[in-house]
Amino acid sequence: MIDRRAFLFGAAGAAVLARPLLGAMPRLPWDALAKRLSGTVVRPGDAGFAAYARPNNLRYASRLPLGIARCRTARDVSASILWARENGVPLAARSGGHSYAGYSTTGGLLIDLREMDAVVFDESTGIATLGGGSRNATFEAAFRHRNLAITHGRCPSVGIAGLVLGGGIGFNMRAHGITADRLVATEIVTADGAIHRLADGDDLMWACRGAGGGNFGINTSFSFRTYEVGTRTVFNLIWDVRPEDVFARLVDILDRAPDALGSKVSAIAPTATSGIKVQLLGQFEGTPADLRAMLADVYAIAEPTGSVVREPYWKAQAFLAEPGVPAYYQERSRFFDRRIDHRAVAAIFDGLRRYPKTAREAAFKIFQTGGRVNARKPGDTAFVHRSSSWLSSIELYWQKTTPDAVLEQNLAWLDAYYATIVPLAGGGAYQNFIDPSLVDWKAAYHGSNLERLEAIKRRVDPSGTFAFAEAIPG
Ligand SMILES: Cc1cc2nc3c(=O)[nH]c(=O)nc-3n(C[C@H](O)[C@H](O)[C@H](O)COP(=O)(O)OP(=O)(O)OC[C@H]3O[C@@H](n4cnc5c(N)ncnc54)[C@H](O)[C@@H]3O)c2cc1C
Repeated sequence: MIDRRAFLFGAAGAAVLARPLLGAMPRLPWDALAKRLSGTVVRPGDAGFAAYARPNNLRYASRLPLGIARCRTARDVSASILWARENGVPLAARSGGHSYAGYSTTGGLLIDLREMDAVVFDESTGIATLGGGSRNATFEAAFRHRNLAITHGRCPSVGIAGLVLGGGIGFNMRAHGITADRLVATEIVTADGAIHRLADGDDLMWACRGAGGGNFGINTSFSFRTYEVGTRTVFNLIWDVRPEDVFARLVDILDRAPDALGSKVSAIAPTATSGIKVQLLGQFEGTPADLRAMLADVYAIAEPTGSVVREPYWKAQAFLAEPGVPAYYQERSRFFDRRIDHRAVAAIFDGLRRYPKTAREAAFKIFQTGGRVNARKPGDTAFVHRSSSWLSSIELYWQKTTPDAVLEQNLAWLDAYYATIVPLAGGGAYQNFIDPSLVDWKAAYHGSNLERLEAIKRRVDPSGTFAFAEAIPG
């Protein structure tokens, strides 16, 4: 049997094999790095090392850095990159640490931006500038009393860097575009240590709007045009009766919903004690009564459990928040450029019924796209996916104690299931649900933008300093 845990570590590490083998590395001048930083250097054995090193996806937690540069300024980031290059040490940047494939782990120098989370707001323009290590929670803390937002995610600890650099989906996207569509400027440190302030018209700025984190340099700030938000009706409804009919009807209704409605529909795999369930989660500008009327046909199939509440915007976001605690998982995504018709629904439920029921949990999820997401053309920004109505993702969670053979069986289920969805969906894969098993990842993430991205990579990172298994090739 192939050990896929080991195989995947190998794949993620492949890009650094051209550098000196870490075992054979001479003593590294860590003191020299520490002297060049206003932040700190944390080494194995130092207080906090284990917590700083741990990624959200524990599947990759055994890949430990030789040292962590806890940066406070763009100059710190520049000095860290140059130190790593001078000493032949591979590097990775980390902001929120939520890369699905563990691409913010490294066996070399981890450049950790989480202390760079200052927020500056320009009242006259409505532009908010966030430090490169900010998280969803940073934005919320700064703007919850002003009722301003950008398109953000539901997990407070996801990094704004990873979110915006790979596009950024959220319940506001149909009304306001993806996170990257609200980005007006960014500061980035490139492989040569230079600090650049980018705005419209720069090729690298174009690339920072959706090509994916970790490809071109390390971004140390992001400026967004905010928008006002008011009251929202938010809902979390669950059906456990006739789930296939409920799912099909929900998709049909939501396909016709106004752009101000943001939703996610999950078909949750059966467990040893319960059948398939369907969950509808989302937000809406109308009232609970409007929502009830809109969903009347689904309520006619079966009454859901759960709740619907109407709250000021940020209180409503607390209702929708997901904790995102570290766990063992893999996700495989595909944009539905085609309708989710009866054939697709049948395939979705057939796949769920085949779930071995031996991992921690699994689900088939769809996030409603369309609206302003599709208002831009594929080449307007690096985020190429501009013609879908849903983004699907199959999630699989397991535990540390899950035996290898059981994990192998579940991953085989995930792959077989995914293979049935790809031709039905017809779109690419989401670069922020980065998937170490994806074979056609260059085309699936970047489509017709790939050639331009490769040219930018050759220009700004000719030595391939920013490397990982699914990095844009130069
Ligand atoms: C619980 C959970 C909830 C999620 N919810 C959403 C959601 O609602 N919407 C959505 O679109 N996505 C969501 N995602 C996916 C998420 O957007 C991506 O995983 C994203 O890459 C995470 O960014 P990060 O900064 O937290 O991760 P990291 O692991 O720190 O970084 C991700 C990648 O970007 C690189 N990178 C990190 N910081 C920088 C920087 N400052 N400059 C350049 N490169 C950098 C890293 O090296 C790595 O390759 C979610 C993920 C999880 C685990």
